[in-house]
Amino acid sequence: MKVTLLNNPTLNFVDSGVGMCWDKGSYGADTDKGKERIDRVCNKFQHSSMLRFVQYIFECELSTSALLEFTRHQVGVDYAVKSTRYCTKQDVDNIRYELSNNNIVNNKLNTIMSDIILFIRQNPTIGNDDLKLLLPQAFIYKMQVQFNAQSLQHFLKLRTAKSSHYHIRQLAKAMYDAIPEEHKYLFEDYINKGDK
Ligand SMILES: Cc1cc2nc3c(=O)[nH]c(=O)nc-3n(C[C@H](O)[C@H](O)[C@H](O)COP(=O)(O)OP(=O)(O)OC[C@H]3O[C@@H](n4cnc5c(N)ncnc54)[C@H](O)[C@@H]3O)c2cc1C
Repeated sequence: MKVTLLNNPTLNFVDSGVGMCWDKGSYGADTDKGKERIDRVCNKFQHSSMLRFVQYIFECELSTSALLEFTRHQVGVDYAVKSTRYCTKQDVDNIRYELSNNNIVNNKLNTIMSDIILFIRQNPTIGNDDLKLLLPQAFIYKMQVQFNAQSLQHFLKLRTAKSSHYHIRQLAKAMYDAIPEEHKYLFEDYINKGDK
């Protein structure tokens, strides 16, 4: 599981959007006055649609289990996922999987994955559309995903909660860690910091 923030998001247009509503203009997103206004309007008053004026683009590596859960998030989220239909046998040396929290399951996973990788190597004429069906939920996908700050708040709230599966929970926490420090105040109330 790996997360990188790819872009350099700015809160300037959140600041100017909030200013537009009251015809007050920009205060500057990095000034104390600007930050206080964004926090008050968007978080405290829940005028959070203004948060759609900033986008966060991440590159993530995540288990199939986490991807299945991740892609249920549809509003304000865009995806580009490395295709197992195009890349399975072409990239057999890079097939990886994420372990579980259980050693017995992990031993089984190691055996299954060695077997699958060997099978793919030994059967170069079989197409990816068939081969991909062998991959288990531990198989690691790579994707580029974009959120606006409002949709990211919602995602972090649901997916850092203890009730979420540990793969996606670790990923959501890593996404929060990758957010620029000066933006963290927008998200702090939405993450569950306990229970690593
Ligand atoms: C702990 C946990 C367990 C889960 N277990 C299951 C499960 O067993 N089976 C299963 O199928 N799913 C399960 N889910 C997925 C869950 O049902 C949601 O699909 C997923 O969390 C995405 O949430 P969302 O719809 O709020 O997100 P988004 O798609 O990002 O939507 C954001 C918000 O937009 C609004 N919205 C979106 N679509 C609509 C709409 N059509 N109408 C009105 N308002 C809308 C809602 O306010 C929503 O919260 C689980 C999720 C969690 C966190």
